[in-house]
Amino acid sequence: MSSPGALEPVTPGTGDLVSAAAQRGELAMQAVGLNRSYRLGRGAVLRAARDVTFNLYRGAVVALVGESGSGKSTVAKLLAGQEKPNTGSVTLDGRPVDVSSRTAFRRYKSEVQLVFQDPFSSLNPVHTVRYHLERPVKLHQGKKSRDEIEAEVVSLMEQVRLTPAQQFLAKFPHELSGGQRQRVSFARALAARPSVLLADEPVSMLDVSIRLEMLNLLDDLRKDFHLALLYITHDIASARYFADEVLVMYAGEIIERGPAEQVTQRPAHPYTQLLVSSAPDPDNLGSVLQSGARRGTRVPESSGRVTDGCPFHPRCPLAEDRCRAERPPLMRISSSRAAACWRLDVAAPELVGNGANPEGV
Ligand code: ADP
Ligand code: MG
Repeated sequence: MSSPGALEPVTPGTGDLVSAAAQRGELAMQAVGLNRSYRLGRGAVLRAARDVTFNLYRGAVVALVGESGSGKSTVAKLLAGQEKPNTGSVTLDGRPVDVSSRTAFRRYKSEVQLVFQDPFSSLNPVHTVRYHLERPVKLHQGKKSRDEIEAEVVSLMEQVRLTPAQQFLAKFPHELSGGQRQRVSFARALAARPSVLLADEPVSMLDVSIRLEMLNLLDDLRKDFHLALLYITHDIASARYFADEVLVMYAGEIIERGPAEQVTQRPAHPYTQLLVSSAPDPDNLGSVLQSGARRGTRVPESSGRVTDGCPFHPRCPLAEDRCRAERPPLMRISSSRAAACWRLDVAAPELVGNGANPEGV
């Protein structure tokens, strides 16, 4: 397919590039060419999300990975209808998203739920666990008797493994541990019976000792509720752990994408390579998470946005003149994999060079 030096650009979202998540289930959500800028004053504009395109499928996990400030939460808010794109669109089950009225937004929220990093700030300190769960059940699940509501609340508690439920329902957020609070956040999101769950760094604030358990819980919930799950993280090792497809974001753009195993084991883009080399050993993720071992090298944070050329060129060891002048498009590595880099022949010769493409289809 690809011969040396003749990589072809791909256009995601057109069928040009197959998602590794597509084999799991039907298409749920499409983000097409999302752009979102913020004005910073004195005429400066920050492009927080740039041409972001991907699909979510029922029963599958797509991981959005990138360092702090890369635009991950902006994408989550665009998908959740909390922010409006400047250009681009989001469709759910083939229909354009409508959040123009209160009723339309509520209807949308019964399909698409967002869980945040910090369960403490997203739960109301003056309300009990029972209140946090009863409210969305009443709001999103139609008319139910008191007994039916109670049964549903208890069932949600069991699904997030907060049992016996009666022991937790009367508690306030401050009476729970961080992990228990995040379980309540999951249960509250599921009370709406969504088809799409957007989890924005759901374990980053939790103690390392419980992160793996929480990811396992999230994976069980994905199966039990047949969720299309967007898992947002700065930790690429955890993305490999349970995602089907990985999207690597840098300075607002998806710069590498493909099957989770492949992207995390043999990253093609120099930025993904940097992320992987500074992450804990993915094969040893469980013990790393449990022992609380810290990563050795730290990836420096990006210092502002680059206007010309590749957004990564100021930090890239392989940057040459073309990288400083021209923005690279996503180039096809295989039918399901692409990276936006002019120097893939040098960065990942085993993936694209010599016509011997082990991942090519
Ligand atoms: P991440 O979740 O990957 O850390 P964010 O999406 O939160 O990144 O932010 C991406 C960039 O957009 C950051 O530089 C951030 O400062 C900026 N940003 C996000 N929201 C706003 C806003 N409301 N106004 C101005 N800048 C913002
Ligand atoms: Mg964020």
